[in-house]
Amino acid sequence: MSNCIFCKILNKEIPSEFIYEDETCFAINDINPKAKKHILVIPKEHIESLNEVENFDLIKKLFEAIKKINKKENITHFKTLINTGSKAGQEVMHLHIHILSD
Ligand code: AMP
Ligand code: ZN
Repeated sequence: MSNCIFCKILNKEIPSEFIYEDETCFAINDINPKAKKHILVIPKEHIESLNEVENFDLIKKLFEAIKKINKKENITHFKTLINTGSKAGQEVMHLHIHILSD
């Protein structure tokens, strides 16, 4: 999706450090952290939100990635958050899971 921030980050059109990457997803630090550690786990495929997910194998893979990311980042306690829809606070219309930890 050409005007999507996360697709642009994936395509290196916007610079960002990948703290994790696999065939399904990548993870970056949130530019406006709302906790000491605030990571975004983003599928490589442009899917607008959880409402558009058809194959939930993707969600399984994202949570498997979260476990690996947390191990790498020494995160033992955390919250995960998926905002779905602008009325729920979703600002970037490309599915992502927040990891928040102090
Ligand atoms: P949401 O409100 O769930 O859509 O979350 C979008 C998140 O993306 C917000 O927490 C933003 O701070 C974050 N964000 C927006 N642009 C960037 C960027 N270029 N790099 C990292 N995080 C970003
Ligand atoms: Zn996108």
